[in-house]
Amino acid sequence: MIEQCAELIANAERVLFLTSAGMSADSGIPTFRDKEGYWENFPPFKEKGLEAQELASPWAFQNVLSHAWAFYEWRRRNAHENRPHSGYDIINHWMDSRFDDAFVHTTNTDGYHIISGTPPDKVMEVHGSMWRLQCLGPCSRDFWDENSVPLCDLDYDRMEASNYPQCPHCDSIARPHILMFGDWDYVGHSKQEENFSRFTRQAVDLVFLVGSSGGVPTNDFIALQYKDSGVPVININLDPSANAIVNTEYLLTMKGKEAFEQLDSALPS
Ligand SMILES: [Zn+2]
Repeated sequence: MIEQCAELIANAERVLFLTSAGMSADSGIPTFRDKEGYWENFPPFKEKGLEAQELASPWAFQNVLSHAWAFYEWRRRNAHENRPHSGYDIINHWMDSRFDDAFVHTTNTDGYHIISGTPPDKVMEVHGSMWRLQCLGPCSRDFWDENSVPLCDLDYDRMEASNYPQCPHCDSIARPHILMFGDWDYVGHSKQEENFSRFTRQAVDLVFLVGSSGGVPTNDFIALQYKDSGVPVININLDPSANAIVNTEYLLTMKGKEAFEQLDSALPS
């Protein structure tokens, strides 16, 4: 199967990468889909019965602000301590030297594609990025880069943050520029949306679906649309049941890092 996929890559000119949690998991970014693993990381949240979906919500920023910011501050520090794995570099290398044009559409908020060197105008972070902030209000549609680590003070024992970042326009509290659960206040990223829309106006001849989970199938449905119009989809996922939506014949039951390394080795230089 690696050889068949390598042949598709060798012949492709315009390629779309759809990446999700499984791509970042190999870099040490927790997915929080597994409730027990999440509770283990955050005993104070277990005591208060605060689930990940509740904390990642505008409700939490209004009602349990210190815990909500603590959750994101912890994740910023975790992403900062880890690094994008070699799979990101391989994607960048292919984008740079092999394909005529390519684009990354990711549901991950760790910013790892851009951090690894993918040109920012070739990335759509559909759920936002933890490295940008916006007003909690919000008082405007503005958002801004914020790469400081640490950003807030964080009491790890109580999982409570303090000294929150502020909105430069109205001095109220800022929040991550991330699409949360039940979120009507996320201001979006119109420039990234335009870039993605422009890329998809022309034909794509190969699609990668990496590390997707059925829980948030945004990328699966994009992949399915392409597959239905005859474009081959390479699905890279440790869990074969993750192929249920797109149902492609090109399924690599592997971790993202391992799959890109094997595919790169199998390519003619
Ligand atoms: Zn504001």
